[in-house]
Amino acid sequence: MRFVISENTPFRILDQAMKSERMHHAYLLSGPEGVGKCALALHFAHAILCRSENVDERPCMTCASCRKIGAYAHPDFRFVFPFVSLDAFKKVGKEIGLKEKKGEGDEKGGWETLYMNFQAEAAKSIVSDPFHPSTIDTNFADKNREISIEQIRQITEMVQMPPSESKYMVIIVPDADLMDAAPANAFLKTLEEPPKYVRFLLITSRPNALLPTIRSRCQMLKFNVLPDQDIASFLTTRCDMTPAKANEAASLSIGSLHNAFLVQEMESNEELLEEAFEFINWLADPKLKEGLKLAAKLDSPLSVAKKRIKIVSILLREVSRIQRTGEPGAGSLSQRLRGNASRLPVNVFEKTFSKLMTLNEGIDANVNGRMLNTSFILSLANS
Ligand SMILES: [Zn+2]
Repeated sequence: MRFVISENTPFRILDQAMKSERMHHAYLLSGPEGVGKCALALHFAHAILCRSENVDERPCMTCASCRKIGAYAHPDFRFVFPFVSLDAFKKVGKEIGLKEKKGEGDEKGGWETLYMNFQAEAAKSIVSDPFHPSTIDTNFADKNREISIEQIRQITEMVQMPPSESKYMVIIVPDADLMDAAPANAFLKTLEEPPKYVRFLLITSRPNALLPTIRSRCQMLKFNVLPDQDIASFLTTRCDMTPAKANEAASLSIGSLHNAFLVQEMESNEELLEEAFEFINWLADPKLKEGLKLAAKLDSPLSVAKKRIKIVSILLREVSRIQRTGEPGAGSLSQRLRGNASRLPVNVFEKTFSKLMTLNEGIDANVNGRMLNTSFILSLANS
């Protein structure tokens, strides 16, 4: 059960459907980030294609089929995820001398092949370990990602031919909401009349951003946040964390494994942490002049900006918990927040959280960073 964090309701529904061979043709796994949706989809991709005779032992993780999925080399399995555009890939690739590093590429001119290879490498990295994916090369982390019409075309072509090694064909689509109208409509056509051997596992943390017609074609599987003890036990048993560290990360994680990893990262990345504390300290007396100085410092690449929002949300949530219970947790971060909790107004988390989410949406929508940060600060400052 390498990919299962929690034997939750979606697990039980899929497990039963798989074992009784009554799987729906498409499922939509929806819920907050970092609760194990993608990992669970991968568990069932293995299980559906596994060759073990005993259905209760699927996925065995040792048969040829299970091993091929792990190496992202199974002809009846695809992992279609949002990637940077070819243009963005070329731009960054030229800046970092990618062609020289990777050799000349092929006779077609190289970039398309490099691009495809990069996508396949990224897919392989997630499929082999969804909990610690080096998702895409960090050089591309600050470019917007989306599922392209070309990726959808490839799935459409793939499903027209019957599976070559198995009874079924499994297609996982993480962040399925990151599709524009054209790919979404093309995808819908396949989803409306899928061949009987196809099993789609779509994943999203923003179900409302999907076309309603896509949603209605899928059986919805809703994930909740994970219980702290499941996260702590995952961190100790599979990430070699000490119980004390694991409990601290779990208690601040708001039920998300991503957040738990972020708490761990915060402790080693002082710069990110101090920046977050600078902002939280400012909230106690949000003077406009100091706020605008902060806003000027906040302009940063997409990945850093989004991480900063998560860190501030995690810390403010803990402030709110300390204010409610009067008790900081045992970990050093919570202890450090004790002072903030007494200085900040009681509803600070509620007041700030919706504004943080607006900021996050602005970043996703590619709005100018300086403008976003300034209006974020203005919305919180005392005039
Ligand atoms: Zn197997």
